[in-house]
Amino acid sequence: MSEVLENKYVKNDVPPTRDERLEISDAFSGLGCDFVNCSKDCCLKKMDRNFWQASSSCQMGLSTIMSSTIENSVIIMHGPVGCGHQLHMLTANTNAGKAARGLDVKPVNWLSTNLGTTEVVNGGEKRLKEAIEYADRTFRPEIIFVLSTCAPNIIGDDVEQIVRDEEKIVSAQVAAIHCPGFRSRMVSSAYDAFYHSLIKHIKFEPIPYKDYIPVNPADVMSEFAAEGYEYGKKHTVNLMTLESIGAPDENELARLLTALDLNVNVVPEYSNADKIRFISESALNVSMCWMHDDYLLKYMKDEYDVPYYMQMPLGLKATRKWLTDIGEHFGIKERAERLADYEEALVKKAVGPFLEKLRNKRILVTGGSVRSAVETSLLKDDLGMDVIGIVGMLYDNNAEGVFEDFASDYPQIPVVISDQPYEYVNQIKKLDPDIVLEHANYLQEGSKCGYVTIPEFDVGGSYFGYSGVFNVAKKIAFALDNSEYVKHLGKHVRFPYKKDWYDKDPYHYIKK
Ligand code: SF4
Repeated sequence: MSEVLENKYVKNDVPPTRDERLEISDAFSGLGCDFVNCSKDCCLKKMDRNFWQASSSCQMGLSTIMSSTIENSVIIMHGPVGCGHQLHMLTANTNAGKAARGLDVKPVNWLSTNLGTTEVVNGGEKRLKEAIEYADRTFRPEIIFVLSTCAPNIIGDDVEQIVRDEEKIVSAQVAAIHCPGFRSRMVSSAYDAFYHSLIKHIKFEPIPYKDYIPVNPADVMSEFAAEGYEYGKKHTVNLMTLESIGAPDENELARLLTALDLNVNVVPEYSNADKIRFISESALNVSMCWMHDDYLLKYMKDEYDVPYYMQMPLGLKATRKWLTDIGEHFGIKERAERLADYEEALVKKAVGPFLEKLRNKRILVTGGSVRSAVETSLLKDDLGMDVIGIVGMLYDNNAEGVFEDFASDYPQIPVVISDQPYEYVNQIKKLDPDIVLEHANYLQEGSKCGYVTIPEFDVGGSYFGYSGVFNVAKKIAFALDNSEYVKHLGKHVRFPYKKDWYDKDPYHYIKK
């Protein structure tokens, strides 16, 4: 195990925000090589705007999405009741995700400590203690997540200490997610806040007699069983889930790894306390996104010596790399290459009928930074489309390697980092693409402008691996054939921007 900790933050009560621990950006326009140089020179953080229209949601919203996927849990919003408004919407999404994975579909149990003026003056700690004990005796959950919002962080409630005290009293595991929206303009800070809460408060190791029977030296069969277990562990991969990955993507990636005789655990989202305890019992942690999981994976390397691998298997090139790199880790690289050869031949034949329709169509790729950069290869190299630009909403230098590859493979494709609708509308009208790939939840003005769009991801759809290549091709071809609705929509939607805004450069307000 390395002497130098890869994740040095886990000793802290409260995790740092992405702004504090990484080079970040939400304001850039230029070429990929300039972007990478700027990321290396640490000048991205200094870039700003003279005018901000809106920003992506607060990190608490994303923490809520992640925690609401955990089975047998209760969420306590520690804050004013309004912070919980997103849960009404999330329950439907979470349950759709559970249904697609064959899990029990139940309402998400959530409570609010409903802090008002009195608590803001006198402190909200008593309310939080009462809420934890009420949640424990009423719902008997395995995990209680306490989401610490802006108000208790401003007034100085010691949420971490309360959680530590209550863990000794209640039967559930209690985890504090420190996610006040005001602390960070990077919504991706929520990933670290969620993982920090698991690291600090949730068991990552199997419990003897509950999860396994310890080896009995007097029983030779128990030694055989232990050896069998160790063999299985050496061939087990944890696939780290994302909110933007649906069951079809998980199934596709599990199918490919299972074809290499590897065991696959899909964790931690859409799992439960029993599954999370086995997170340390694997030979490799595989993340599909550099900007999502590094906080947990680095901790797993430090604490359990489980190596990690990050690569988004979008498109033939990236999927081949994903498969063969994992194969190499387990000493079966040639086998992985043969599997990639076989699957590629099948999918190339399957997408053949779509290629004529897609060839040279001008496509703008928008959404997650990593997805947009990696997806360029799928669209351009596999489907023959003309990628005229990528727009990522947020960036941090965990994704620097992705953009180095992007800048070297596609030096002429412009890169934008922006979550600003007014910039997006201006840019899309100037570029006049044939089709746009758009984030499933944000910056969705493309269709309102009258352009054909498909989601960059949707949790019911397939995007990763070989079935992903086929489904993206099919989706785009279908959308191009069915464009009447968006054309009508575009004629009737009016944006609140003055005419002279469209005469300006879309990134006129970015300050360097
Ligand atoms: S920004 Fe703060 S107050 Fe607003 S929803 Fe997020 S946590 Fe609540």
